Formats: sequence, structure tokens, C-alpha cells
Amino acid sequence: MRYVSTRGGPAIGFEEALLRGLAPDGGLYAPEAWPRLSPADPARPYAQRLAETLAAFGAVEAEAAAARATARFAHPEIAPLRQLGPDLWLLELFHGPTAAFKDLAMQAMAPLLEAALAARGERLLLLTATSGDTGAAAVQAFAGAAGIQLCVLHPEGRISPVQRRQMTTVAADNVLNLAIEGDFDDCQRLVKTLLESPRLRAGALVSSVNSINWGRLAGQIPHYVDHAARAGDNARFVVPTGNFGDAFAGWAARACGAPLGPILAAVNRNDALVAALERGELRRRAAVATPSVSMDVGLPSNLERLVFEAAGRDPAPVRDAFEALAREGAAQLPPELVAALRAEVSARCIKDAPAAAAMRRAWEAFGLVVCPHTAVGLAAHWAAPYPGPSVVLATAHPAKFPETVEAVLGFAPETPASLTEFAERAERCQTLPADAAAVEAAALTLLRRV
Ligand SMILES: *Cc1c(COP(=O)(O)O)cnc(C)c1O
Repeated sequence: MRYVSTRGGPAIGFEEALLRGLAPDGGLYAPEAWPRLSPADPARPYAQRLAETLAAFGAVEAEAAAARATARFAHPEIAPLRQLGPDLWLLELFHGPTAAFKDLAMQAMAPLLEAALAARGERLLLLTATSGDTGAAAVQAFAGAAGIQLCVLHPEGRISPVQRRQMTTVAADNVLNLAIEGDFDDCQRLVKTLLESPRLRAGALVSSVNSINWGRLAGQIPHYVDHAARAGDNARFVVPTGNFGDAFAGWAARACGAPLGPILAAVNRNDALVAALERGELRRRAAVATPSVSMDVGLPSNLERLVFEAAGRDPAPVRDAFEALAREGAAQLPPELVAALRAEVSARCIKDAPAAAAMRRAWEAFGLVVCPHTAVGLAAHWAAPYPGPSVVLATAHPAKFPETVEAVLGFAPETPASLTEFAERAERCQTLPADAAAVEAAALTLLRRV
């Protein structure tokens, strides 16, 4: 399987797409063609579905990677589907080591990247900005990984204590946690600058593991494929969305033959996706803070992949729109492209109060405590009736966000043992100003460490 850039650059192999993350022309990588995946088979373990998926997209040691990627999940089904009512299902994606769905793909990224590096005899510095969940999943996946060093930047004091401890209590020498005196946008800006740093690039390949990386999306396709048929034909999938990574993985599952019905992306007050799908507006703006913190994204980066597909894989309109966006901070998609986009995915904005009401309703109706992100998904489901089964994705365990849950329900969620173990260990973290030279120096120290 070869990978093309959404902006038209030359095709490359799977491992190179993984190691690069972003294409040199600024585009995102997409497989040259969508492979056909086998139909769901309830008797088949999730690890086999993951291995099949990774192999179909070009991974060489897919079976070993899938075995390692699923070894640390606390539930035998990895991503169990739970029926709440005649037409409502909850897909639980939070049974991994950091209790959020990002574990599903991140746990697979580590063995895949290790294999790609070993084949090339190179080493890799991963730089990642996080508002909480991505960094935690990355630290838990890459701690001790061969040939890989990981530097995670989080905004000091702006992530939940549980999220911070999942990152900072890991003692591995190849991990460096930086608390940046600034906000998430500062962290992202620093990472973007340092990805181009000649001093870092002299010592290693330098890349990132956010959801622009194709490997992250490939690892999120299996949970759709195996459950699409189980909930019933043409089931709607309601996906709590930030960067549009997991929702695009659902679109990709459908492109690979899975019988998914409509995909409804549920966003919080950061509603750039709604503006793009309804009016064709692309606008770079600062994220606003909401209780569903991991969805506080100004403009979803994976939207470019959907625009590429809706344009019939013609890179010209993608280049036009996203280069204008980069230059001017805003761009307008042509009307026929907007209509094509809307035929693929719809989006709904859920404000903070309806999300809180959905959290209360889930508790009252089902005795179920959900996280603030899952609550946005449930609220979107209830706000947009659908004549058939709906699967709402539960993207994190509520115990990751005890403060928010307690503020809404009046009691704190039960904490699973996998989350309490982080509370006891010592934290390792360096605080730095939002300054590229200071962060570069710290990353260079990390490169010399191992
Ligand atoms: C990252 C995250 C999301 C959003 O996922 P995207 O792939 O960025 O759309 C939703 N919920 C939780 C708990 C997350 O960590």
C-alpha cells in the first residue's frame, strides 16, 4: 500500500508515512486506495481484526504489533459494545492503560514505529503537544520503546491531575515531560517550530504522534468494523469529536466495506466543523475552554482528509483551500464541495448545559456515569433523532474527569484500580517558559540521554 498527500505530493510507503506524520507539501497522507476488510465475525478476537487492518494498510509485522497493542487492555473484548436501549448502544473505548480511546491506536504505533526504525537503523524523536489524553497515551505507549525518545509538552496547570500523573509518573529514561508556562496553543506552536529545528534533526528523525499521523487513524478503524453490523444494519455512529480523527476513522471503515450508516460528529462549543460542513467556512480560531477538554480544538486537522475524499481525491481544491487558510487564516470551500462533504458526515454543536443534562439523563435512565466527552455524544444523539440503531462512542472513563462529573452529578465517579496506581508514584516533570530555545535545549538533553 502506498500513501499519497492530500495536496498532491509523491506517493510513499506505509512506514515512511508513519515516520513523517505530515507530508512535506503540508498535506496529510491517505492510502492510494481503500482496501476491502473482511465482514464482522463476533467469534473473532479484536486483535485479529487489528492485525488484518494494519496488514491491509501496509504494516509488515502486523500480527506482532496487534498482539502488543492489545496486551495492556483491562477488558477481554478490548472495545466492548453495550446495549442501553432498543436502539441505543454505547461503544466503550476506554479500557486501555490511560482510560481514553487514544490508547487503541497509540499502543499500536509503538511496535509499528519500532519496526520501521529497526529496518532503517535510525532513531526517532517524537515531539507532542497535549491537552491531556494524547500525551498520556503516548507516554504509556512509548516508555522504554527501542530507538524512540518522546518529549511531551503540556500547558502547566491546565490539564487534570489524573491526566498529568499518567504522564509524569513514568520513570523511563526515553520520556521527557515539559510543563509549559502557557496554554495548549503555545505548546502546539512550540512543537511546530521544533519539528523544523536543524539542531534536533541532526541527531534523529523528528516527528509527532498526533492524529494527523496515518498510523493513529489506522488503529481506530477496527472498533467500527467489528461493531457496525452488531448494532444492526445501517446503524448511525455518533462520535465525540475534536480533531476529527476518530470520526474520520469511521468514515474510512465505511470506505473499507463496513456497513456503517450515517456518521454524526458531535462537537462542543468549538464548532468549526459545523461551520465547515454547513457553510464551507474554514477559519483558524483559538479554542475555547469547555468541560470536554480533549475536544477543545480550534480547527480540526483531519478535516483536510474528508475534503480530499469529497473532492474525488483531486488535490487541487484541497491545496487551494488549505493554503489560503494557512496564508490568510480563513478560506471558503466551493458550494459543490460543501454539498459533497455534507453527504459524507454531519456535525452537531452541543453547548455545555445540554452536555451536562445528557450526563444527568444517562445517570437517571441507565444508572450510567459517563465522561464529559461521551456526554456531548449522547446529547447529540438525543438532539437528532434517527430512525434506526445508534452507536454512541464512549471515548474516556469518567474517573479521568472526576471534578467535572462531581460538579454535574453531585458525586465523584468510582475510580478503577488502573487509575489509582498513578496517584502513588513520584512525578518527573520540568517546567519551562513558552520559549523555543529553552524547549529545544531540553529536547537535546533528552537526545543525549539514551
Ligand atoms: C481525543 C479525544 C476526543 C476527540 O477525538 P478526535 O480524534 O480528536 O476527534 C474525544 N474524547 C476524548 C476523551 C479524547 O481524548
